[in-house]
Amino acid sequence: MNWHLENIDDVLQELKSSGKGLSAGEAIARLEAYGPNEIVSGKKRPAWMMFIAQFKDFMILVLIAAALVSGFLGDITDTIVIIAIVVLNAAIGFVQEYRAEKAIEALKKMALTNAVVMRDNITTKVVSTSLVPGDIILLRAGNLVPADIRLSEVVDLKINESALTGESLAVDKQTGALHSARLTLGDYYNIAFKGTSVTNGHGMGIVVATGMKTEFGKIAGLLQEPGVQTPLQKRLAVFARHLAYIIFVICAIVFVAGYLRGQNPVVMLLTTLSLAVAAIPEALPAVVTIALAIGAKKMVKKHALVRKLPAVETLGSVSYICTDKTGTLTLNEMRVEKFAGKGFVGNDFEEKFSANDDYKILMQAIALNNNVHHDEDDNRMGDSTEKALNEFAVSHQFKRNEIEKDFPRVAELPFDSKRKCMTTIHRHNGRYMVIVKGATDVLIKKVEADTDIASWEDTVNNMLNEGLRVIGFATRELDSLPGKLVPSAIEKNLQFIGVAGIIDPPREEAKQAVLQCKTAGIKPVMITGDHPITAGTIAKRLGIIESKEDKIITGLELNEITADELNEMVYHIKVYARVSPEQKLRIVKALQGKGEYVAMTGDGVNDAPALKHADIGVAMGINGTDVSKEAADMILLDDNFATIVKAIKEGRRIYDNIRKFIRYVLTGNTAEILTILIAPFFGLPVPLLPIHILWINLVTDGLPGLALATEQAEKNIMHRPPRKPGENIFSNGLGIHVLWVGSLLAALTISTQAYAVFIKDAHWQTMVFTVLCVGQLFYSLAARSENTTIWKLGLFSNRTLIITFLCNFILQMAIIYLPPLNRLFKT
Ligand code: ADP
Ligand code: MG
Repeated sequence: MNWHLENIDDVLQELKSSGKGLSAGEAIARLEAYGPNEIVSGKKRPAWMMFIAQFKDFMILVLIAAALVSGFLGDITDTIVIIAIVVLNAAIGFVQEYRAEKAIEALKKMALTNAVVMRDNITTKVVSTSLVPGDIILLRAGNLVPADIRLSEVVDLKINESALTGESLAVDKQTGALHSARLTLGDYYNIAFKGTSVTNGHGMGIVVATGMKTEFGKIAGLLQEPGVQTPLQKRLAVFARHLAYIIFVICAIVFVAGYLRGQNPVVMLLTTLSLAVAAIPEALPAVVTIALAIGAKKMVKKHALVRKLPAVETLGSVSYICTDKTGTLTLNEMRVEKFAGKGFVGNDFEEKFSANDDYKILMQAIALNNNVHHDEDDNRMGDSTEKALNEFAVSHQFKRNEIEKDFPRVAELPFDSKRKCMTTIHRHNGRYMVIVKGATDVLIKKVEADTDIASWEDTVNNMLNEGLRVIGFATRELDSLPGKLVPSAIEKNLQFIGVAGIIDPPREEAKQAVLQCKTAGIKPVMITGDHPITAGTIAKRLGIIESKEDKIITGLELNEITADELNEMVYHIKVYARVSPEQKLRIVKALQGKGEYVAMTGDGVNDAPALKHADIGVAMGINGTDVSKEAADMILLDDNFATIVKAIKEGRRIYDNIRKFIRYVLTGNTAEILTILIAPFFGLPVPLLPIHILWINLVTDGLPGLALATEQAEKNIMHRPPRKPGENIFSNGLGIHVLWVGSLLAALTISTQAYAVFIKDAHWQTMVFTVLCVGQLFYSLAARSENTTIWKLGLFSNRTLIITFLCNFILQMAIIYLPPLNRLFKT
């Protein structure tokens, strides 16, 4: 890689590209040749390997081996049936896992980022994976650099390369050729590396490497991504391991007891192995992955795109939601509703203003200090606040491109949510006009002392109290441009010229969602850059603020209080206003320090640290930057607060259903183990044959268990407090339930056996087999809820389960009454 040594022209020539970009045809051809621009982490398993992996479990291998040996020694039909059931089991596992994998792949595709590329001299958006060497691409603040790029043009371009170098300060980029061949990664000033993030400015460059050929790809190739396990999966894996020891001991007892009573040792070996395979829940972690993946796929339909699978599980624990206001709680359909200037206050254009010079200056400023542009279909593109202001100006016949003929723009100090204002500078009659727009409280501090500040404040306060978002405008004239265009030099000694009050109505569904949060023990708080009065008004309308105890705090106040003070009052603060993104991190930490499980939304580059630190980082799909999306666990495809609450509800449902599944399967296993363990102690023969045990494990346990995972949310799901993160799966009586219901079923089965043996019924084994199967089938109906009866849920409300139930029942009857099956299963 020596692209940094060459001039842009040489780079273009070498990559057979030009300033107009590649042609569409060439781009396709290169994509063929170079492969997609993606980081492949680990090898993809082909489907057949996934199927084979179903047999990797040690116990299953031993069982197959034993069955083969026993087949050679005698009964070959048994061997065939055993192997058939094991293969069928693997097939079901495979189908599930395959579906899960496909679901995850689909989610990954949806989370792909786009890049703006120049092809055939037209800029278009393409998915980043389709970039090829030679492409010319545009970068802007908020972008994730999509490939390794030799920069050809930079305007204040700053890039944070911490993903690559660990250096947390952003690097200033430049375009000139460097001279030393060997540099450390941090010194390539004219290269933007894949995976790093643009924090400031904009730029342009030529793609010189894609995919695994990039510096990021080289590192990613070294670091094989280890399989991530969710907290629940880790706990289940430990549990399964411990349970395995217990089951080994039980199997040993069963084997020895059978052997001592003169049973055939080969049959006893098969019996105990089947029992071990059936009873050790080694597949539980896999089942959790499947439930989470399928759940994540469902959540997309509700506009929540999960980027990290464990989030599906932990969503149910969220106890605090810190949400943005603008666009998330509000509709983001902004419109200027009021405006005021020197000596006039208006709701709309009125004839009498047109002669007023101050009116004209204000309207010109509104039109000029604006970056909205129009796309091919003439839609306004850009920041919502600016779109509203642009629409307002245009509807009053103040068009930016017309006015700019007289006031060409010579410079811009871009908006920054910390400074809370933006400045444009225009040349006019040989002098320079500075126009600043921004938060009024910030602007007022920058105006010249002699203006009538008190009366401005009055006007502003009236608008704020109506819940309007108030943007101020101020100007200043300069004879010449200062050498350094920095805010501190330009944004001072201003003349206040007017304000615009923008209405941004709250979302109707946000109000419902806030209500739902409250019954569900989740506390919603608003974090915004907007004015405390505007924020407070909206918070009251949405029900976030309800009583006198609910406080509003500003970023300034937040800066002044100590960590202890914040700790003390944090539960009372419902609105954080005029905060900068950097302060979000402090808020998250304070809440987490109180043991809260925090979901935090964010859309900007500077929100990334807070999103990463939150338990659930939530990014905006529509208005969010790539960088914030990359840092998030979940993306709201509709930017809507209500979607977070829906996702939490879905997370709770999925967790509930995993619990139901576990409860059902473990209860069944307990019944099987106890039946086989205890029967001999009552002088009874071994109750079941290996094929019976395997059949029960596959059909009676497995299928209804899967059907339970499709159970709908219970009615009270948003009327109970959040689950504690790290809560034991056996808490809330699940463990006790498994033991006692398992014992009950076992007692029923053994009693049946004892009775049948007592009356010398030759069919005793069939009876035991059937009682255990049908008993579990009926129990599957009861397992649908932990605290509601089937009658309240509606007998037929889980259709999958009812169908499974009927199929299982019919199969069971077929095994008993159809002669061929009857012979296979020895019933
Ligand atoms: P929020 O979107 O939550 O209001 P921001 O940090 O985006 O937070 O904005 C903070 C404040 O900066 C706004 O309340 C507004 O007064 C001002 N502001 C927002 N957008 C612009 C802009 N494009 N130009 C100038 N000022 C702006
Ligand atoms: Mg904003």
